Amino acid sequence: MADKIVRVCIRLGIGGLFVINASGELFPHQACKQVNALKDENGILVDVPETCREQFKEVAVKLGLKNSAQKVTLFVNEGFHAVSAGSTWFPEGAVIGLPRWYLYQTKEDVATSGLKFLGRNIQWDSEFGETVKFCYVPTKDMIGFTIGHELAHIQHLEFKMFDIFASPFWLFLTYKMIRFVHYRTFKKQAMWNLLLNLSVCGVNYFAYRLVNRKVQHFSEFNADKISAECTPQIAKGGVDFFTRRLKLNLVQRSLLGEEGEDFFTEDGNEVKSYTHPRLTDRLDQVKFILSSSDFQLDSR
Ligand SMILES: [Zn+2]
Repeated sequence: MADKIVRVCIRLGIGGLFVINASGELFPHQACKQVNALKDENGILVDVPETCREQFKEVAVKLGLKNSAQKVTLFVNEGFHAVSAGSTWFPEGAVIGLPRWYLYQTKEDVATSGLKFLGRNIQWDSEFGETVKFCYVPTKDMIGFTIGHELAHIQHLEFKMFDIFASPFWLFLTYKMIRFVHYRTFKKQAMWNLLLNLSVCGVNYFAYRLVNRKVQHFSEFNADKISAECTPQIAKGGVDFFTRRLKLNLVQRSLLGEEGEDFFTEDGNEVKSYTHPRLTDRLDQVKFILSSSDFQLDSR
């Protein structure tokens, strides 16, 4: 009887994980856009700036995406980072949420945005204030790089498939391994059996985290590469994007004092970033693409 209950729970777990993972990708408007989009005081979605729309059209052409407007919907994310969900290969298409600071066009926009640091007002004429104002005004090329990066994510199905199937498959595999160990070894010794089961779960969980992290990092590097290889301007946008983020992190680290070391390394990398590679490694890659290409930056 207990065995049957465990079996039902495992099946529900596998099915549940699959449904949660797949629905985020198959219904991106409901699962991503409606949840993350920035809204005004009346609850209306904030418009995507014209510069971002123009960059989207240009980058989509460079990446060979036809009918991009029908397949991909842009929105402004309420967070300070970009998000995306779905795929151009899926019937509901895909959505890309641009960081909310892409709304800022001048330093004045940043200073009047109501932005706070740790709940406190920012002294805009201080070194920190000046750095924040400089880092949060995106260039056209930075916008292009971000869009290229997210377009690469939504066009590459292999990573989407991994996101959808990896966790239910791992649960299935862990269950099968536990059953195998159970029948082969300490069938009548409950304590040893429990310890062995916990060990299998622990080892499998760490293996899953390790593989998942490697795949996610590979996916990020791949998206950066595809975007940076579009044009020299976009590669330059990538260099600026990472350079500014590192700069901002370093200023925050020094402002936070000892506590800052828990969040940022002395290079400006984010200590607690699990899903994304180190910013310095990403910067090195786009710098390399920019320097090794034989194309010339034209003035825009
Ligand atoms: Zn990414």
